[in-house]
Amino acid sequence: LRKPRVVVLGAGYGGLITVTRLQKLIGVNEADITLVNKNDYHYETTWLHEASAGTLHHDKCRYEIKDIIDNSRVNFVKDTVVEIKKDEKKIVLAQGELEYDYLVISLGSNPETFGIKGLKEYAFGITNINSSRQLREHLEYQFATYNTEEHKQEDRLVIVVGGAGFTGIEFLGELANRVPELCREYDIDHKKVRIICVEAAPNALPGFDPELVEYAVNHLQRKGVEFKIGTAIKECTEDGIVVAKDDQMEEIKAGTVVWAAGVRGNSIVEEAGFENMRGRVKVKPDLRVEGHDEVFIIGDCALIINEEINRPFPPTAQIAMQQGETCAKNLAVLVRGQGEMEEFKPDIKGTVASLGESDAVGVVFGKKVVGTKASFMKKMIDNRALFMVGGPSLVLKKGKFKFF
Ligand code: FAD
Repeated sequence: LRKPRVVVLGAGYGGLITVTRLQKLIGVNEADITLVNKNDYHYETTWLHEASAGTLHHDKCRYEIKDIIDNSRVNFVKDTVVEIKKDEKKIVLAQGELEYDYLVISLGSNPETFGIKGLKEYAFGITNINSSRQLREHLEYQFATYNTEEHKQEDRLVIVVGGAGFTGIEFLGELANRVPELCREYDIDHKKVRIICVEAAPNALPGFDPELVEYAVNHLQRKGVEFKIGTAIKECTEDGIVVAKDDQMEEIKAGTVVWAAGVRGNSIVEEAGFENMRGRVKVKPDLRVEGHDEVFIIGDCALIINEEINRPFPPTAQIAMQQGETCAKNLAVLVRGQGEMEEFKPDIKGTVASLGESDAVGVVFGKKVVGTKASFMKKMIDNRALFMVGGPSLVLKKGKFKFF
């Protein structure tokens, strides 16, 4: 009898937890496990704002997948998923094809630009190692170029961040620390630099406690960030952005525009023909897709409803990792044909948004925290994610230990 083939797409938080758990849960003879990922490394998506601003080197945010998985148990394929043919149970890769009996889709998200003209072409994203490295280099280039030009272009030193949600705020925190360093390095008067955050919603950090929002906004304002709240980006051009507030249009010239205002599920999921909302598929309590009992979808590609408020949970690493645990257990049940499938129940331990190296805001175990205490907790959360995937040795290699 042929062993069932389990294929996991994406080695992000959800995918890696699934594989590292599954390789322990089932024996060599019970199933073949294949993990597919675009790169031979995993990156900490939740740290990309640091790599993008240049406050943490991108190599600190990634590690090799082969060092984490049991290579005698898992067949790792470094390739790009191009298409999921769900009815034929086939995966089309850039350089080949795979067949599966059980599939886990954990391909993360894509930026959501809401159809705003020019964003795809001209704005930078905080999406993966490549985009973060490019943004960091671009920022530095603007500063390095400024003093070389006879006619100084002040716009080079204007940085626009679209979105004051979680990612936008965390990026602004890093940027506000990075800009003084860049000014010193390139002999630029700090006053010439403008950091402008544009947010369409009526307040920053939607969904966060108002007191914490105020703390975050005040902190960033003190560090020189200008907020344009209730203001929508209408267009992004080579020269900057066009915004609108109460039907008043304004053009803001900027050397750098960063789009950090939203994500949708990976487009591959939509293209596969699963019923979805902005690329996210509503999964059953056991994390499988309705009508496709052999397909699990987890992480940013999955949609689960928070019954308390009857709205979807926001996509987070916290949930992706917890789903990975459930997914591995349920796969083991299916492969063996015995045992009970587990229902996924998110256990939200808290949310902390960093505001640079030594400040943060958040709610942990139901309690509000700010300042160095919150910042310490944020680093513990970051270290915990490493621990969950790769144990103490990964924490020692990549962990954050500079606390104050
Ligand atoms: P990911 O971890 O993004 O992994 C997806 C993987 O799939 C990647 O390895 C990618 O290379 C791979 N992949 C994608 N497409 C293909 C393809 N076509 N072929 C092959 N491989 C592919 N969440 C929190 O809980 N707490 C936080 O503090 C937090 N902070 C954040 C800060 C920032 C700056 C950002 C951007 C996000 C933050 N998030 C946070 C959200 C969190 O990062 C995501 O929810 C989480 O990464 C989702 O996990 P995932 O496993 O679904 O996808």
